[in-house]
Amino acid sequence: MRLALFGGTFDPIHNAHLAVAREAAEHFGLDQVLLIPNAIPPHKQRQTTASYAHRLAMVELAAAADPRFSASRLEEGQAKSYSILTIERVRQELAPGSELYFLIGADAFSEIETWFRWHDVLEQVEFIVLSRPGYTYDIPAGARVHRLETLQLDVSSTTIRKRLGAGEAPPELPPAVLSYIRENGLYRD
Ligand code: ATP
Repeated sequence: MRLALFGGTFDPIHNAHLAVAREAAEHFGLDQVLLIPNAIPPHKQRQTTASYAHRLAMVELAAAADPRFSASRLEEGQAKSYSILTIERVRQELAPGSELYFLIGADAFSEIETWFRWHDVLEQVEFIVLSRPGYTYDIPAGARVHRLETLQLDVSSTTIRKRLGAGEAPPELPPAVLSYIRENGLYRD
């Protein structure tokens, strides 16, 4: 069993998240990708603009696109979303011989040495680092890193939130997610 964790604010989840997860699943023969919305993201400066419940609901809708994807509540209700705690919880449940990967974009990986117990994180998982236009990163000594550079997608939730605020319908959103946003009046200015 090859399992990958893919955490994020997902505020909202967009097509680049799904595209990089699919690409990683193909390249590394992943059986399952857990999409894990963060409760409170320790590394984000701003507050999220949609609640945890809404972000999770959008991840659930988006995850239906691929049988390997599933939405995970692992970081629901946590005081802070520390990846090491999530990794340790998943490891406890994992069948022997399973391989655990951690999917992460180049922007987030470039800050890995600021994470809570980052040495333990490096010890526990193999990273698949997804290239992202405009971001480079160093690989800390001892880290097991697979660079996945086949996609360069200039898409971010920040840009999507701005477009939604301006009344546009961003094409980088899965249709079910866009409908959910409209039905629930999210991201209005
Ligand atoms: P925001 O603009 O709100 O900061 P975001 O688009 O970066 O959001 P996150 O939910 O923070 O999305 O990202 C979750 C994970 O997906 C992170 O590891 C991030 O690096 C990665 N990611 C997001 N967008 C891309 C992209 N276009 N290409 C590669 N990786 C991405």
